[in-house]
Amino acid sequence: MSILINMRTPFRKSHGKITFVLYNKPSNCKGKCIYCFSQKGYTKSTTANEDTTLAKESSWNGRKQLEKRFEIYQLKKDSGIKCDFAVKGDSFASHDEDYLLQYSKEMYDFLNNRTSESLEEAVLLQNEAKDKCVTYKVETRPDQIDENKCLFFAKLGITTVEIGVQSLDDDVLRLNNRGHDSSTVMKTTQLLKRFGFEVCYQIMIGLPFSNLETDKKMLTETLWKNEYAPDALKIYPCLLLKESYVMQKKLRNLYLAGIWKPLNTHDYTVFLEECYPHIPNYVHINRIQRIIPPEKIDAGPASEINRKIFSNISKCLWQRSINNYLDNWNINVNNYTIKEYLQGANGYCFESVLGNDIVLGYSRLNLISKKSALIRDVRVLGDMLLVGQKNEEKIGCQHIGIGTALLNAMEEKARDNHIEFIFIKPAAGSKNWFISRGYIYINEYYLVKIFAGNKEQAISEYQLQIKIS
Ligand code: SF4
Repeated sequence: MSILINMRTPFRKSHGKITFVLYNKPSNCKGKCIYCFSQKGYTKSTTANEDTTLAKESSWNGRKQLEKRFEIYQLKKDSGIKCDFAVKGDSFASHDEDYLLQYSKEMYDFLNNRTSESLEEAVLLQNEAKDKCVTYKVETRPDQIDENKCLFFAKLGITTVEIGVQSLDDDVLRLNNRGHDSSTVMKTTQLLKRFGFEVCYQIMIGLPFSNLETDKKMLTETLWKNEYAPDALKIYPCLLLKESYVMQKKLRNLYLAGIWKPLNTHDYTVFLEECYPHIPNYVHINRIQRIIPPEKIDAGPASEINRKIFSNISKCLWQRSINNYLDNWNINVNNYTIKEYLQGANGYCFESVLGNDIVLGYSRLNLISKKSALIRDVRVLGDMLLVGQKNEEKIGCQHIGIGTALLNAMEEKARDNHIEFIFIKPAAGSKNWFISRGYIYINEYYLVKIFAGNKEQAISEYQLQIKIS
């Protein structure tokens, strides 16, 4: 079960891995969003808290932050930890690439216990390392992503890209100075999915120049159209923070002029109650609020909302996850079945479920041409077991075959559709798992399983469908 440590982001190993919240150094995101805030010495849109202070004291160095987290969480190095790198900051893609290469290389070096000559070597060494990176998430602006950036992210071993969407109404985006419109979000989503990333949207409710009707339409309808259909969501209400705490001049002026009318906790809770039943099963809602203490909030929904109050009306993956359902979920869960949902155009989400609805793991597959398919995610929830640890008693979700069952379900779907090649861009530490199940390298980042044809044909299909230019 979860162990809580006195950090802003609690230590958890209940999602099949341990999340390490890490920060990039402050950069210039090039944004001028009117609701954004800043605090001297910290990345825009973040504040001084236990996580950012740890990052600052580590000179924003990824390796040092990881090292400190291992210490704080009392983790034994080289024991087989499954690591989830959650790198935050204003916009990952706005940093120069040399910095990001070095930052990522050093994180892998720490896990590998070796200083590599290059990022490529560090990623390769993950195959033999005891502690493995199984997911690598970053957050970025959608208008800073193009095909080259996707390839670069693939090279770094990134698995999940969170994009700042905020709204899908072009007037709201323009009046909030977002600097991009909804068509950019659409194009970026399709590009990220084509390269095999998990896509998370950050959206904001109660922005200036928006209203609850517009926000409701986005959350219950527009987001789920084929051209968007994100895998995960972070929903944040727009907040005005205390002046003594951060700079947020433009939003404060709109507030004082009566132009921006903030939501309160009650309005926001009612809004979520109305929206939740219309949100599809396949999405994982990661958050509905930022972690900011109420005493630091001047206007906007300040009180913490217990997400479990929505459990009867929400079907989202988070809400139905085994971690939320059972008091003691370290029991035998072997009696699971696999369910399948449509997600966007030619996309599928598979769940392994206990009973009707308790989610033990899930995966995502896209059919990208008549010949090829792309796996974008496979994950098993529950209390983390160490890499290679046996689970002979079959207690809990891990290492009892759920990942393989999800993989088999996706391969079956691919075969049913006469697919010849099934591609995957796994995290640096997950490649061996796929290789042991018949996948082979086509380059440093992508693996393929060939159902018909040969490796040369797989490579040309990859060049045609994924790396187009
Ligand atoms: S892109 Fe993000 S960090 Fe930059 S100004 Fe806008 S909200 Fe703030």
